[in-house]
This record gives sequence, structure tokens and C-alpha cells, in this order.
Amino acid sequence: MTEFIQCELDWAYVIDTETFSFRSAKTKVPVGSLVLEKGRETNDLGMTFVVTKYSIAHDDGLNSVDGKKEASNYLAKKMLFFMRETGRYPPNTEFKKSYKNGSVDLTYSPSDYDIFTIKMTPQAVGQDVEDFLATLDPPSRTGYVPQEDWLIEPAKSSRSTCRSCYERIDKGVLRAGEPSFFQDHLTYKWHHITCISDKIWGIPRERLKGFDDLEVEHQQEVQALLWE
Ligand SMILES: [Zn+2]
Repeated sequence: MTEFIQCELDWAYVIDTETFSFRSAKTKVPVGSLVLEKGRETNDLGMTFVVTKYSIAHDDGLNSVDGKKEASNYLAKKMLFFMRETGRYPPNTEFKKSYKNGSVDLTYSPSDYDIFTIKMTPQAVGQDVEDFLATLDPPSRTGYVPQEDWLIEPAKSSRSTCRSCYERIDKGVLRAGEPSFFQDHLTYKWHHITCISDKIWGIPRERLKGFDDLEVEHQQEVQALLWE
């Protein structure tokens, strides 16, 4: 049974380490979860970027973690537990590389902006890491959760270029706008919806602006690509 603690978070996400699901968090997080608090900082050149602070939810509150490496170490322990319990890879987790000493790096990327390297050692696993991983099922498919809302629309002109395939996006063709900040100003990087659909599959409908304004045929196309 999962216990929760109360908190007040302005802009934050939580990795539930029992399920390895990733979602935004405001007032309540599960005990044992990793909390990612986001903020914006501007450098001398006027460029704005997002910074992340990590903390672990304990019974008595959030305990901050000293950087991403420490956060990754915590996730590695929890991930091993998850794998033993469920017999499968957590969502959004992939094999990255193996080392001569028998250690393996996995990549856990619950969002585009949050990518963790998860180190598994033979000592921690208690057996050959690759042998252990070979016994696991692949992850169940879980949806993409963006940090900012994406936008979908028919291209207004033929001037945009797809950031996935670098081809022109013809006027009227469905394009998905990836939110991007420049000097605190929200802009979009465009993609053919067909080029980006695998990556953003399962995005919550309310996080895809413009969907309700699409013509029915376009809505059906998006439905088939992202939610089926
Ligand atoms: Zn494309």
C-alpha cells in the first residue's frame, strides 16, 4: 500500500519508484518517490534554461539529494527492486552499454529532459548483470508526459522544417510543436506528426493544445498515431 506525503510544489514531477511512472506533482507524492523540482535560470547571455533539483520523499518530508548522480544511484536501487518484483524492465528504460568488469549502464528517460544513467553492477545484482537482464520482459508501453504543452495544427505555410527528418513540412500537413524556450519566450520546434508520434505516444490529450480545433479527419489521424 502506497503512503503519500503532503507537499507544496510549484513546478515539479515525481518518479514513483514502485511503478516507475512519471507525472507532474503539486501537493502529494508517494513515500519513496524521487521528486524533480524545476526552475528557470537565466545566464549572462540572457539565455534561459531549466534547472532540476532532486529529492526523495520520506515519511517526514522531502530530503534533497546531492545532484543527479546521487539521484541516479537511488533510482538504480529501486529499479533493481522493481525488476525483481515484476520480472520486467521499467517503462522508458533501455540497455545502454556493458563494461568489461561486468557492469551495465541502462538509460532511463521518463521525459525528453530527464535522462538518467542507471548503473548495475554484478555485486548489486548478485549475478551476471546481462544474464539477469536477459530474464526480464520488455517494458509495458507507457505514455509520454511533457513538461510543457505541445501544440498540434495543420502547417500554416510551407516554410517550417521538421526537426526529426529535416524535410519541409508542406502547408496543411499536420505538424506537432515541441515547446522550446528562448529568452523566456515560448516558441515551437516543428515536427511532422508522423515523425514524432512514437516519441510522444500517449501524451495526455489535455497536454496537446490545438487538438480540439482540428478537423475530424485530422483528429482521427492523431488519435490513431498517439492514442491507439
Ligand atoms: Zn519529418
